[in-house]
Amino acid sequence: MKLLVTFSRKKGKKPIIAQAVRDTGVLINVERAVIDSSEGEALIDVPDEQCKLVSDTMIRLGATVHILEHGISVNESECVDCGACISICPREVFSLDKDFRLQLEEEKCVLCGKCIEACPHQALTLPL
Ligand code: SF4
Ligand code: SF4
Repeated sequence: MKLLVTFSRKKGKKPIIAQAVRDTGVLINVERAVIDSSEGEALIDVPDEQCKLVSDTMIRLGATVHILEHGISVNESECVDCGACISICPREVFSLDKDFRLQLEEEKCVLCGKCIEACPHQALTLPL
């Protein structure tokens, strides 16, 4: 399960992901992170059965946590199978099947948003 975690890095705040690993014993896979001197946002992946434990722990440590049930989604009535999203995606989420219809492996998505801008039909939506 993927979690989108937003946290403060202001003076006195401890590294939240390291603390969550220590407190829960769960190995957290960081798929994407954007961090500056004052705040950070990280997309993390944890085993489904430990999702609530990690989420509750991070909230207790001061983070905001969104549990993501889905990655990118496509509006099939808008998609024209042009393939523009395929080459732009850094995680190879998209492909065309033998009938040249768009296929998604949404579990690979790291919510970078690049495909949203590339789609000429506004057929793609992120979960947040
Ligand atoms: S949001 Fe990024 S990772 Fe997800 S499908 Fe689009 S381009 Fe790929
Ligand atoms: S870029 Fe948009 S219209 Fe083209 S294949 Fe991807 S989702 Fe469909």
